[in-house]
Amino acid sequence: MTADLRDGGPVSGRDWDRAVELISSADEIALACHVSPDGDALGSTLAVGLALRAAGKRVTASFGERRFRVPRLLRFLPGQELLAEPADYPAAPEVMITFDVPTVGRLGTLTDTTCKARELIVVDHHPSNTGFGTVNLVDPGAAATAVLAEELIDRLGLPIDQAIATCLYVGLVTDTGSFKHSSTTPEVHAMAARLVATGLNTEEIARELWDRSPFGYLKVLGAVLDRVRLEPEVGGGLVWTYVTRADRAAYGLPYDEVEGIIDVVRRTDEADVTAVLKEDDDGAWQVSTRSKGGVDVSRVCAALGGGGHAKAAGFTSHLPLEETIASLRALL
Ligand code: 5GP
Ligand code: MN
Repeated sequence: MTADLRDGGPVSGRDWDRAVELISSADEIALACHVSPDGDALGSTLAVGLALRAAGKRVTASFGERRFRVPRLLRFLPGQELLAEPADYPAAPEVMITFDVPTVGRLGTLTDTTCKARELIVVDHHPSNTGFGTVNLVDPGAAATAVLAEELIDRLGLPIDQAIATCLYVGLVTDTGSFKHSSTTPEVHAMAARLVATGLNTEEIARELWDRSPFGYLKVLGAVLDRVRLEPEVGGGLVWTYVTRADRAAYGLPYDEVEGIIDVVRRTDEADVTAVLKEDDDGAWQVSTRSKGGVDVSRVCAALGGGGHAKAAGFTSHLPLEETIASLRALL
């Protein structure tokens, strides 16, 4: 997948024009984001979906999971009614648009639909994006896919109302780590200001995203922190832990409830790299990694079949826990 890597500049005017032309002339548009969607993936998808629906288009949005389930903390996003299970997704869309998807495989069960779509517009900010669309709106310099989604809506000449602004803001605030990451430029704050000015209740959004965990989350977090390990000799220091299916089952927690655990573990000052291994419902390990800058974790994860950004990346492992962490350790 590295042969056709893009050279990573911002999007050309020609590509924007082509995307606008294709979308404007289509009646039916199919949107998709990556499996296990995060705030940026689903927020960007629903923002563009709402804008297109308001413009009179028939819109379907989805993500390719066999057990289709919107993560609990993203159910407050406006536009849920645009979502369809992958089984009800158009088989051969006139125009398909993907959001926050660096490689086709991240579309899960919707991967094959990309081959049947007449036009495929790829909206993304991953440096590892392979440019798999017929039009690629990919800017690795963008703090979030939501930045590109906003520009697409603007270039289509469509208004950004409060519902659309909520979706875009969630993408921006989640991917910048609440405006903490190095990607938080003056332009990011300017975009946030514009979105908030539509009347957003940012306090309510923050509560939905970070302060509504079920009680069982604290119990699972306690167990997971109890088994955390610090390995100062690995890379610039590695801190890691894991959460099993059994841990979650004991408190009835679905997989998406444990995705935020890494934000606690990564506080460790003695470690440059953080890893949290999460066993999914199929028994595979979904490995999340973070770096404070000493190590490019996207390279490490790419070598293990995954990808992401230099400071936030992941991969999927079908090996046992100890072998999975050993394979990561070996690359650090
Ligand atoms: P997170 O750890 O928050 O799930 O993901 C961090 C980053 O790594 C995101 O950009 C996400 O798209 C990417 N990522 C996470 N898991 C995988 C994976 O299994 N494969 C690939 N290609 N990227 C992943
Ligand atoms: Mn993103």
